Amino acid sequence: MTHISTLQKPRLAETRREPFKVYTRRDLDRIEPLQRLPEETRFEMRVVSSVLPFRVNQYVIDELIDWDRVPDDPIYQLTFPQRGMLEPGMFERMDEALRGGADCRAIQALARELRAKLNPHPAGQIQLNIPRDARGEPINGLQHKYRETVLFFPSQGQTCHSYCTFCFRWAQFVGDKSLRIATTEVERLHHYLENHPEVTDLLITGGDPMVMKAKHLRAYLEPLLDPRFEHLQTIRIGTKALTFWPQRFVGDEDADELIATFERLVRAGKHLAIMAHYNHWQELRTDIARRAIARLRATGAEIRSQGPLLAHINDDADDWGRLWKTQVRLGIIPYYMFVERDTGARAWFEVPLARAWEIYRGAMQQVSGLGRTARGPSMSAGPGKVEVQGVAEVRGEKVFVLRFIQARNPDWVQRPFFARYDEQATWLDQLRPAFGEERFFFEEEYDEMLAGRGLKS
Ligand SMILES: *Cc1c(COP(=O)(O)O)cnc(C)c1O
Repeated sequence: MTHISTLQKPRLAETRREPFKVYTRRDLDRIEPLQRLPEETRFEMRVVSSVLPFRVNQYVIDELIDWDRVPDDPIYQLTFPQRGMLEPGMFERMDEALRGGADCRAIQALARELRAKLNPHPAGQIQLNIPRDARGEPINGLQHKYRETVLFFPSQGQTCHSYCTFCFRWAQFVGDKSLRIATTEVERLHHYLENHPEVTDLLITGGDPMVMKAKHLRAYLEPLLDPRFEHLQTIRIGTKALTFWPQRFVGDEDADELIATFERLVRAGKHLAIMAHYNHWQELRTDIARRAIARLRATGAEIRSQGPLLAHINDDADDWGRLWKTQVRLGIIPYYMFVERDTGARAWFEVPLARAWEIYRGAMQQVSGLGRTARGPSMSAGPGKVEVQGVAEVRGEKVFVLRFIQARNPDWVQRPFFARYDEQATWLDQLRPAFGEERFFFEEEYDEMLAGRGLKS
């Protein structure tokens, strides 16, 4: 069985149609430039990709990765598994199993065991964010954490054109379906939105909804123009297609239908926001990437950019400065710089909060005010999105100044609070309140929310 698929038929058009060709872990030996690397490196990839998902397409291999700079090339690190992405103990166990010729079921069982240790569902995504209907049944495929914004995971959009090695939703791409968050039901989404007039924003996410056929996307989106959904002002689409497959918007078989759908939404008065995941200015270099951006903007949609700060990929102020400057030039609005979440390959990618703030600040200093719309570094943690505003000294104590950008309780938003400075800390749960306080101001109430769902912090 081949895992290289050719999805598009050729057609005469001004844009030459490229076939979408994708490789998974079984195809490592077929990726041409990889064959120039040591055999040992390819074996390490096999080990890591037995635990964490791997998928990369021809466009990324040919156009985005600078193979002369491998292994340091950021897009190579973004897509290809590296030994350090698993903790040494885990790596060794899988390495031994593969070398020892363990059978497929034993490998699968070991993979499941190791994945379970990698915090596959950070920030209470499953227990706390999935809303319930009137009978108390969970409504799968939806997450509703912050009052104004509902996340929707269309079942046809739960894969990506390539996988990011650091993806915080990695657990949905490996094996066990019970770990997935998805739905097939258009009606369920529409019913929920109709009954929640406080919701102004719908965020369609995945995976990547831009892997969907335009006709499927239309089934979700076009009914939202009905007056029943008057309260819905913004439709956001989270995607990495502008990086991994800009052909989706220029030249793909149903690209024109997709663009026409976007135009219709905008003309009908909805704010359409493409939430584009970017990590590095190298993603914006190709001609097709720029044409895709221009075509999307011409529909009246806004493109906002967000992405995590990652060791080995973009832990450098100059790279972020260049990324944001390039985005502003292309008409993209910088939105969030995230802190890598406490899941999956975090050991390889995490950057201490103190360092993350220095990088953010260093990048901010390089851009004009139009590039300073990016907030961060921000942790999407259980209680909300917590931004590191800076490091300060208050009455002789060195502290982090923090604030909620977004919170489970809107009342927590924009109140400054303080944590003891810690040079090593990489996540909120490692921080302690400053000034000898026992707990952060929101903790008691957050514990009550957890207890209401039978959980503990
Ligand atoms: C970030 C996020 C949102 C959107 O928050 P905004 O501050 O409006 O961008 C919504 N839901 C979840 C779960 C999120 O993590």
